[in-house]
Order: sequence, then structure tokens, then C-alpha cells
Amino acid sequence: MLDAATKIILILKDAGHVAYLAGGCVRDRLLGIAPKDYDVATSATPPQLSAIFHNTQLVGEAFGVVLVRLMGCHIEVATFRTEWGYSDGRRPDGVAFTDAEHDAQRRDFTINGLFEDPIENKIIDYVGGQQDLQAGIIRAIGDPDKRFNEDYLRLLRAIRFAARMGFEIETKTARAIRNHARYLGQISRERIGIEVDLMFANTVEPVQRQLAAKLIQDLHLDGPTLNEDHRDVTLPTLGALPDHQDVDAAVCLAAWMLDRHARNGLELLPFLAQGFERTMTQWRNALSMSNEQRDALANTLRVTAKLMQWHELGIAGKKRLLAMSRFAQGRILFEAMKEIQIVRPIADDLRVQVPILLAQGVNPQPWVGGSDLIELGLKPSPAFGDWLDQAYDAQLDGTVCDRQQALAWIKLKVLGHSPDKGG
Ligand code: ATP
Ligand code: MG
Repeated sequence: MLDAATKIILILKDAGHVAYLAGGCVRDRLLGIAPKDYDVATSATPPQLSAIFHNTQLVGEAFGVVLVRLMGCHIEVATFRTEWGYSDGRRPDGVAFTDAEHDAQRRDFTINGLFEDPIENKIIDYVGGQQDLQAGIIRAIGDPDKRFNEDYLRLLRAIRFAARMGFEIETKTARAIRNHARYLGQISRERIGIEVDLMFANTVEPVQRQLAAKLIQDLHLDGPTLNEDHRDVTLPTLGALPDHQDVDAAVCLAAWMLDRHARNGLELLPFLAQGFERTMTQWRNALSMSNEQRDALANTLRVTAKLMQWHELGIAGKKRLLAMSRFAQGRILFEAMKEIQIVRPIADDLRVQVPILLAQGVNPQPWVGGSDLIELGLKPSPAFGDWLDQAYDAQLDGTVCDRQQALAWIKLKVLGHSPDKGG
């Protein structure tokens, strides 16, 4: 991808334009991190770009962004631009093409305002970004109050970058974030949700995730981000989540929710028993979660809640729990709650028992189905579900060992208990 971007820059320079790598990719390269993507910024206008490259697609004409396909890669090539207006706190009222220096000044933070000429191997820095990158500082370009007023998403972006890189947010910038925090709700919930997702993605290290949540709280963005009151809490559960593929944004949100709403054994059980459904709905709206994200979060919490009762479950109950969706994630969350007393003995037992139960199979095909009950002379009714549940439990806990036994067992049950058949 770097090759393709460099080639594009070479072609643009040959045509007499100014062209650089821009923004996040320059920052990441200087930090020694592999950039997610490479963006090119140039003096060439969209019509000029379409004339120079064969394979182009206009993705934001108003903004002057053209997608160029070259060497099998799609590279975003954006015309240097300046923006103004932001009367709705989301989009600029106006955009005009300009030079590199003014384009740097419309960007959010100094470390994101750098350009690189990969051919001359030179950094072009109009905003002091290199110095801040070296010192580990997130600093708004220009007047921070003005810059956050233009686009409140920058409030969360500042925190995401600070957490990801372990950088300090410069004092005036931090003060401006705190002062504008309450306006975050003026931007779309989707944009807020995406930022939070990025902070908690499974590629992010545990300390960075905890730092993100801490900064959000310290700068009073937690209320407007999550649609609830500000809380000053420690984050033991979020902080104890391991660096593991299964720890995704939903597990982090679940941990954060517990840290905020169920900080001790006394609060935890009622919260897991029913309390979390209300908070779930609130967070779902606040972060504009998809059904899939909501289910991932809710199911993680449900598994954790069930694990609290591990010692009261029979073999069938334990197997049903192991077969729940998000069991692995719920277990990780459960084990992160080390500070809650009842967790440790259960976690110890899980380590021994879970592999044994998994080896036996936790979600085998049921031996008895609805058609078997009909054959026994029962009419389909809501009670069917109960009978089948009982038969499946008998199968799971080893009361019956094959379909033959299962059929004999259910027959005895049904004939013994069914109101239709008499006792
Ligand atoms: P990431 O690695 O998360 O992609 P990034 O810095 O590349 O970080 P992008 O959202 O891809 O972030 O944006 C690319 C560049 O565009 C940024 O580096 C920044 O210069 C500029 N930019 C993006 N969003 C904003 C914004 N809301 N306000 C001002 N400048 C922005
Ligand atoms: Mg980027």
C-alpha cells in the first residue's frame, strides 16, 4: 500500500503538483507503527485527479476526496482544503481548496497534522507535530476551544489517541475538553459509538483500554458518552481484562458497566440478576449499537451472571451454560472480577471442570424430539417444551445413555405425569 501511495505521489509531482502522505499514516510511521491506511494530500483538484489517473472514484466531491485505484490498492487522495462554519457542530458550512499549510491547520491535533514526502524522505511540519510526537503530547492545532466547538467528535478522538499511544493531553487542550464535554451529545450517536468501539477493539492493549475509560471519566465525557450521570470510579474489572483475542469491545463495555454500576458483592448480584437490562438499553442508545453488538454485550453479562451460580448448577445446567453464546467472553469477564469474593473459588473450579465437561460434549443433538412425544399420544402444547427440556437435561447429565433409554425415560415421565393420560 505504501508503494501505491508513493507511486501516486510520484505521478502527481511529475504532473507539477504538490503531493504528500498526510495525517495518521505519517504519525504512525514516525512512531514505528504500521499504518492502517495511507492517505495522500495534494494540490491537484478532483477534476485534475480524474484526468491524471484512469481508475478513480469520487467519494466526497464537496470535500475534494478521490479514491484512486493503483497496483491493486485503493488510496484516498484529498485535495488540500480549508474548512469553516461548523454551525451544526458536525459538518463544515464551507470548504475551499488551499495549500498544504492551511490544510494542516484544519486537522485536529498536531501529531495528526504532519505531511511526508516519501520520495525526498522529508517530513513537512507546519504545526509542531514532530516535537509533540517526540514528547508524547496530544495538543489541538490552534485554539482548542474553537477547534472542539467545530466538531465535538474531536473530544473523543483526543482521548483515543492519548490512550492508544500513552500520551499526555496538553493542559489547555485537556481543559477545553472538560469544558466542552457536555456538548458531545450534539453529534450523532453513531459517531460516538464508533469512537468507543475503536478504543476498546481487541487489538488495543489492556492498559490502553483502561486508560481510555479513565480519561473519559476524568474529563467528564462519561455522562454524555454513555447517556448517564458522571461517575468517579476505579476500573478494576476493565483493568484486569487480559490481552486476548476474545476480549472485544462488548467485553470491555460489560466490564466498564460493572465497574460503574456494581462495584461490590452487594451491588453486583442484584445488578446481574435484573439491573443491567435498563443500563443496557441506555448504553445501546447512547452508542447506537447494532443488534449484534447489543446481543454480544447482553450475552456476555448473562454468562457472567450464571457463572456466579456455578455451585448451584447440576451437570445439565453447567453444560447448558457452557453452550451459551459468548461463554468464553463471559468467563473472561467473570475471572476479571477477582476482587469479588465469590469469584475466586468458582474460577478455580472452572479451570478443572470446564475441560472435562467440554470433552463430554455440551450441546449434543437431542435424542428426544417433538415427534417422539406425538408418537406417545400427546397433543402438541406449550408443555412440550418442558418435557423436551427435561429429556435434554437427562441426556446432558447422563441419566440416560442413548436414544433408547431416553425414549423409555420420557415415556415413563409422560405417562406418569401427563394430565391427558391420567396417572
Ligand atoms: P487512525 O489510525 O485511527 O485511522 P487517523 O489519524 O488516521 O487515525 P482518520 O480518522 O483516519 O484518523 O483521519 C485521517 C486524518 O484526517 C487525521 O490524521 C487528521 O489529520 C484528519 N482528521 C480526521 N478526523 C478529523 C476531525 N474530526 N477533525 C479534524 N481533522 C480530522
Ligand atoms: Mg486513518
